[in-house]
Amino acid sequence: MPSIALRAVLFCFLLALAASCAKAPLTQRSQFIVLPESQTVAMGLEAAQQVKETEPLSSDPALTGRVRRVGERIAAQTGRDYEWEFNVIDEDVPNAFALPGGKVFVYRGLLGMTDSDDELAVVIGHEIAHAMARHGAERMSVQLGTALAGEAAGVAIGLESPAMAQVFASAYGMASQVGVILPYSRTQEYEADYIGLILMAQAGYDPGAALVFWRKMMQLDKGSAPPAWLSTHPPSQDRLIELQKDLPVIKGKYYHRNQND
Ligand SMILES: [Zn+2]
Repeated sequence: MPSIALRAVLFCFLLALAASCAKAPLTQRSQFIVLPESQTVAMGLEAAQQVKETEPLSSDPALTGRVRRVGERIAAQTGRDYEWEFNVIDEDVPNAFALPGGKVFVYRGLLGMTDSDDELAVVIGHEIAHAMARHGAERMSVQLGTALAGEAAGVAIGLESPAMAQVFASAYGMASQVGVILPYSRTQEYEADYIGLILMAQAGYDPGAALVFWRKMMQLDKGSAPPAWLSTHPPSQDRLIELQKDLPVIKGKYYHRNQND
């Protein structure tokens, strides 16, 4: 039986190995992901179940129909065989999120702020991109890696620390509880914007709507009570600059309005 220190070193080596393999779709950015997809999809499913039990889902066929129609058209472009699901939460809150494995929730409040399906496609495309690029798994992996690195350091300097398994369990427990709703990093946000634009363009939605939508959000952000979604999705000048830079290329390469209409 190898010592705890040796096991910690081996585990870190495996983490590094896993990290070197993952690449984000379309951007080819290297990702640090150590949690197997089956695991994170199961966690996403569990979280989605909790959301459905605690939040009021809309049964308005006009609202849910619109979100499902736009969502499914964009999800079809991902090449991921997730069981995509789109629901509307019947609350006047401007918010939206996607869970690992493709369960997407849009609040009625945010839905009301999208003046066209193209604008709704900006929101849903962005959320689908987070799920497609496994951003949740990436955040959880970083947390787990940090916890394990801390433990390995403790062992290395000879501290009598709790058993590795216990640390793993608690780090994993922490990740599974909060991991699915952890805020994304700036890099992940820009990446979700970029991937989202490509997906929506491929699905036949005008990616130019992103500028209209984010400019509108920027005005709201200046108000006294900025929408919840904007606390994790600040419509900064930088964000608009990135979008403006990417748009002409994406529009020229992927957007064909008549392909689906
Ligand atoms: Zn986001």
